[in-house]
Amino acid sequence: MAFATQCSRCGAQNQSGAFCAVCGAPLAAAPQQPQPPQQWPPQQPPQQQYPGVGQQPPQQPYYNADAAAAAQSSKAIIALVLGVLGFIMCGPFTTVPGIFLAKADLDAMKRGQLPPTNLQLAQIAYWMNIAISVLWLLAICAFFAFFGGLATLGGLGSLAR
Ligand SMILES: [Zn+2]
Repeated sequence: MAFATQCSRCGAQNQSGAFCAVCGAPLAAAPQQPQPPQQWPPQQPPQQQYPGVGQQPPQQPYYNADAAAAAQSSKAIIALVLGVLGFIMCGPFTTVPGIFLAKADLDAMKRGQLPPTNLQLAQIAYWMNIAISVLWLLAICAFFAFFGGLATLGGLGSLAR
């Protein structure tokens, strides 16, 4: 055991064992080549310990995702506004597009194309538009049922005369 076994994956010096104590890679052919291992670590650790390599790539997608979120969150906000408009006056004419707008946001978040920062907003917009659509459908049904019933009663009344 005079020489250390160098891990071929991470370059760590292992005194014993069949697996690297640092990264768990199997230590196989290294003992056959007792080359001076001092020259290898300066080359390999920079590949793994580069702070820039490890940190910068996550920053770029995150930044892009933020930009996408800024663009997409306005969609969820539009869906919310459509829902409120639908509740006040326009009914299903705005709430149904609102459902699809909010659903597009929710789908994008499920697919990972959008960070779930606006998940709650999109969910609120989605369910609010659905609820208002249902309310309006019920109101319309009640409206026609009421006046349809009146018309039927009126028709019966005129028949009775
Ligand atoms: Zn290793």
